[in-house]
Amino acid sequence: MALSDSEILSRLVGFATTSTASNLPLVDFLADYLTAAGARVERQLSAGGDKANLIAWIGPPPDGSRAGLVLCGHTDVVAAPEEGWRHPPFALTEETDRYVGRGACDMKTFVALAVNLAAERARAKPLRAPLALVLTFDEEIGGLGAKWLVEHWPAARSLPARAIIGEPTSLVVARAHKGHLKMRITLHGRPAHSGYPHLGVNAIEPGATVVAALAKLRREFESERHPERDLFPEVPFVALNVATIAGGTAFNVIPDRCVIEVGLRPLPGTSAANLVERVRTTVQAAAAPLVADLEVVSNTPPLLLSEASALHHFLCQLVGQKNSAAVSFATDGGWFQKLGIECAIWGPGSIATAHRANEWIAKSELPTARGLLERAIDRFCGEEA
Ligand SMILES: [Zn+2]
Repeated sequence: MALSDSEILSRLVGFATTSTASNLPLVDFLADYLTAAGARVERQLSAGGDKANLIAWIGPPPDGSRAGLVLCGHTDVVAAPEEGWRHPPFALTEETDRYVGRGACDMKTFVALAVNLAAERARAKPLRAPLALVLTFDEEIGGLGAKWLVEHWPAARSLPARAIIGEPTSLVVARAHKGHLKMRITLHGRPAHSGYPHLGVNAIEPGATVVAALAKLRREFESERHPERDLFPEVPFVALNVATIAGGTAFNVIPDRCVIEVGLRPLPGTSAANLVERVRTTVQAAAAPLVADLEVVSNTPPLLLSEASALHHFLCQLVGQKNSAAVSFATDGGWFQKLGIECAIWGPGSIATAHRANEWIAKSELPTARGLLERAIDRFCGEEA
């Protein structure tokens, strides 16, 4: 039976799909709903088998032309430990002008609209080109589901070459974001009783030198001029954050370990391998003669969509937008770009209400976003002649 957009949203918010929980109950619900409407549904299980990406196809099977459109959303949400929730976070609550609940904005409203529009097309209106829904797991902890999909997607089965990543942008079309490159540096010393320092090697002292060297590298990054800097007027450089430092166990023990975590936000077009090398060289020089291990924890790629692309052009025209825009958060789009998919970040809801107590979306945004999305589907998938 067909559900309204807000009914689907309500069901989706009811699944507490934080990173520590399985998303399979939500995936099963949507798979059943889409299958009943006539969509062809696939689940792509995670390595652990407790999560899945959901891919649903509507319209003709994909061919070599890569025509059509992908609508992409993530099924997971951040946890809701904040004080101040007016209602239970994992139940959608209707207030006068808004819906409140974890994921209402980021990004289960987009998912609900995409699912319902796809279901309607599957039921009633044949399409000229394929419409694919790609709903991912674990976006909030580094785009893990999108990465998994990109690394395991069979090369012969092309997805359409255009995608809307429906993250909350208040329906502003964003064509770029930075990546997020996370590294962990471990310095190894030798433990000893602090009364006998000659028997040990302190790992924290060179750790301090490493932190100072990283701060110098940060200032170097800040002075560099990137080709895409105009898209990021607030922070037009690769931001480097010394994020955590840990080491030592007690006053009377020479610490044998110091662990430093660093996050970098590369602009589109910046080589991650090159950045890792620069961090490695800096750290090794500062830590010598101690040896420092450097591990890349994760690398969410940046995103760039050409200003001249048909997708960017169409969406900007649709909402009456003149200028290029970028967002300050990474998305699954960085990964999907690696499959040769052009991605625009464009969805209902304001990022300012995401990841906070009483996350909400205006009721009026549902019909507005639905109408615009419908036109995007018509433009790229069209009705059968
Ligand atoms: Zn999101």
